Amino acid sequence: MEKHHIESILKDLDIQSVNYGATTGTTWGRIHTLGKELVSYSPVTGQPIAGVVQAQAHDYEAVVSKAGAAFEKYRMMPAPRRGEIVREIGNALREKKQRLGALISLETGKIRAEGEGEVQEMIDIADFAVGLSRQLYGLTMHSERPFHRMYEQWHPLGIVGIITAFNFPAAVWSWNALVAAVCGDVVVFKPSSKTPLTAIAIQNIIAPVVDKYDIDGVFNLVIGNRAVVGDTLLQDRRIPLVSATGSTAMGKKVATTVAARLGRSLLELGGNNAIIVTEDCDMNMALRATLFGAVGTAGQRCTSTRRIIIHNSIKDRFVQQLVNAYGQIRIGDPMDPYTLMGPLIDDTAKQVMMQAIEAARDQGATIVYGGTALTVEGLENGSYVTPAIVEAENHYPIVQEETFAPILYIIGYDTFDQALALHNDVPQGLSSAVFTSSMKYQEQFLSHRGSDCGIANVNIGTSGAEIGGAFGGEKETGGGRESGSDAWRIYMRRQTNTINWGDDLPLAQGIVFDIKGEEK
Ligand code: NAD
Repeated sequence: MEKHHIESILKDLDIQSVNYGATTGTTWGRIHTLGKELVSYSPVTGQPIAGVVQAQAHDYEAVVSKAGAAFEKYRMMPAPRRGEIVREIGNALREKKQRLGALISLETGKIRAEGEGEVQEMIDIADFAVGLSRQLYGLTMHSERPFHRMYEQWHPLGIVGIITAFNFPAAVWSWNALVAAVCGDVVVFKPSSKTPLTAIAIQNIIAPVVDKYDIDGVFNLVIGNRAVVGDTLLQDRRIPLVSATGSTAMGKKVATTVAARLGRSLLELGGNNAIIVTEDCDMNMALRATLFGAVGTAGQRCTSTRRIIIHNSIKDRFVQQLVNAYGQIRIGDPMDPYTLMGPLIDDTAKQVMMQAIEAARDQGATIVYGGTALTVEGLENGSYVTPAIVEAENHYPIVQEETFAPILYIIGYDTFDQALALHNDVPQGLSSAVFTSSMKYQEQFLSHRGSDCGIANVNIGTSGAEIGGAFGGEKETGGGRESGSDAWRIYMRRQTNTINWGDDLPLAQGIVFDIKGEEK
């Protein structure tokens, strides 16, 4: 990866070598005292890309105060007008799709196709949010009282805190920020400390739209450490909703801290996703879906396929073909268009993967393929590994955990009931799939006694979801839903309105309560 190439990506996205960690709309927090520098390292090369000066407590305060003031004005803008703003943000992202995609690849290590795919997801959600801006519907109800009308309406909520994980540094912002923006909310974005530059690039890309519509303070960014920014945001009563994407451990902290002040949290946490492969399936399709699900993004998607639960009669054949396919995967520089698997995010992630392989072995598993550190020529400091195929039992403690790396556990079964029981027997509940030609298996998988996940697919892998559906999962995945369908509701507050247009004052439930009458 040439240095001048990196510099040209940064220049195009208006990122200087040291940026400032707090910004509201277009204004960097330059007036404030500079905090400690945070360096963003590329997992591709292991070398620093650029440094960001982190926000201090008073920067955070300035940003949230400004967001609060902006909300007062922004919430009065009609929702379709807010949709126009989001449409222009979508167009700005279209123009910078390649550049932003390249930065995402550089900062996260995901391959170019996936980096650009992430920007496409932002564009798609912008389009979705534009339509939504004219569809923030409430219901009307029939009042039980004569001459009364009852209906509900949805009002903007206020400041929405957005905490994101490193692996989707841009798309998750858009799922939240663009839907919240048409709902009339303002956002304070706290990105992962591993991907601050992508967050800065997003602010830069949308800055001309922010200026044009004079909405400084609606889209805010604060880059800072956990004590100064993360914990403060969770405890901040001015922030009615915290949307947090990351590990289950982080989600538990967010849930309890936000609940302690009776705030709302929207949690998108870890998965332990499985594909059930039945004896009658199209094996070729199942293999391709497994390959993308387990190896794509180097196994660092919340929806990555971590377990294959496969009928014992076809297990050995499937594993053999999978091993052949794994052997052909080109691992290396994600900026190279022929690469299918880039590095892990950092050396810690590599160590965690190696420890998981050791633990699997200790617990009785067989390592069928890979699971080793890899040195890529010319990129010796990058965090590269070979993806692993491991034959294991579902109850092994390591299989029950989400290891954020390309480890695929193969688990055999004899009956479909047994497969379903194994499938659901993990603490997480995000994405799931069955590959089958049987209508009975398919329907059983989708029934009340089938998959317990938020996402359940038939003849489609676990990884990668369309923005039109509500995205999220159950159990330790946190229960949140964002992106499509009616996920917008969490960004608004519901108000029930009853209007009496008569001359009397009847009470609900027929209660009579006046001086002469009797109370029922
Ligand atoms: P992480 O939990 O280490 O960090 C996620 C974010 O939370 C970061 O911004 C981090 O700074 C912040 N954070 C961590 N502890 C915090 C605290 N105590 N207070 C406030 N903020 C805190 O996760 P990661 O390593 O960045 O991402 C990988 C994890 O994210 C995996 O578990 C993956 O499954 C999950 N994930 C889930 C989804 C989903 O939609 N369900 C999507 C992407 C990633």
